[in-house]
Amino acid sequence: MHITRRKTRQIQVGNIKIGGDAPISVQSMTIPHPRDVAGSLEQIHRLEEAGCELIRVAVPDMDAVNALPKIKARMMVPLIADIHFDHRLALKAAEVVDCVRINPGNIGPWWKTEEVIHAVNDYGIPLRVGVNGGSLEKPLLDKYGYPTAEALAESALNAVHALEDVGFTNMKVSLKASDVHMAIDAYWLFAQQSNCPIHIGITEAGTAATGAVKSAVGLGWLLSQGIGDTLRVSLAADPVEEVKVGFEILKSLELRHRGVNVIACPTCGRVEIDVVKMANELEHRLSHITNPISVSVLGCVVNGIGEGKEADIGIAGGQGVGIVFKKGKLYKRVPSEDLMDTLIEEVEAMAKEQNAKSSNESISTPNPSALPPEELSLTSRGPTSREIPVLPLK
Ligand code: SF4
Repeated sequence: MHITRRKTRQIQVGNIKIGGDAPISVQSMTIPHPRDVAGSLEQIHRLEEAGCELIRVAVPDMDAVNALPKIKARMMVPLIADIHFDHRLALKAAEVVDCVRINPGNIGPWWKTEEVIHAVNDYGIPLRVGVNGGSLEKPLLDKYGYPTAEALAESALNAVHALEDVGFTNMKVSLKASDVHMAIDAYWLFAQQSNCPIHIGITEAGTAATGAVKSAVGLGWLLSQGIGDTLRVSLAADPVEEVKVGFEILKSLELRHRGVNVIACPTCGRVEIDVVKMANELEHRLSHITNPISVSVLGCVVNGIGEGKEADIGIAGGQGVGIVFKKGKLYKRVPSEDLMDTLIEEVEAMAKEQNAKSSNESISTPNPSALPPEELSLTSRGPTSREIPVLPLK
């Protein structure tokens, strides 16, 4: 299946491009209050190591705002401030961070949003408009009776159109709901009517296993339709798991290729090695490899090479002696007890070779600076409720 990405305009958060033809980026959010600078940084550094490309922190009060410079100074990836209710926090945070997220449903009168737009525009950073099913504006709740996909899409479109009407386009938008159907329908409705870059996610998806499944179903459907320019998998778990699941979803759809992709056979009566244990060990011992290498672990040599021919490298178990194969061809025979170490050495060598080759080929490109502030023509009017054409859902 070939996925055609929906065309969106491109924005830039720090050095990460979002939208247009930029790769779909994976982001996550820290758990500690930012005043716990050490705790926040410990999590941020682990997220960076896992490949997280954008990191958001909750900024609930001035204590959090004041901690932002200390956090920002010791991290590599762009920092996003997540603000609710108090727009003054956004005004201060904009001095430090690479993007500010506000929720128009709870930020108050329009003039507060105007002040935030001026602030982000002055610092040349984008805004994320984050609409949430749990905090929709009252007129929309009155109109629809309860949070619906149509209400979410209308809320997001109202906010985006109001900002575009005053000349502000440096933004992305999210429409979060914990119900997978509602999230899918809301994103789909919005995507038919705007070219604003979209942050996709299923909010409060659940624990590591259930949340990963819900996110894979919801985000997988949207991504397969070409919708989504950046994503976060929300899990009640270590945020590093969010990043792993995010990349796995993108890898499954062949939208991103990062890190080792371990393929393991389901095992059957022919199995000669402990495939489950070895596959888990491989994922753990090769987690430092960022090159897109597919590694196969197969239980037997009977169908081994044939079943693993899509992998760059793999092993297949045998009675006392197993095999290592590359691209479906026998590479060498190895005693079963040495299979794992041999495979790891070979993958590391492969990654090293790829890195040496790409550094020879690499051409240094200038680091893009912040986008120039756009001309604004702010007026004092707020978002108006617009009639959204009712489109058939899928
Ligand atoms: S590779 Fe061998 S052990 Fe694994 S499922 Fe196939 S036949 Fe069974």
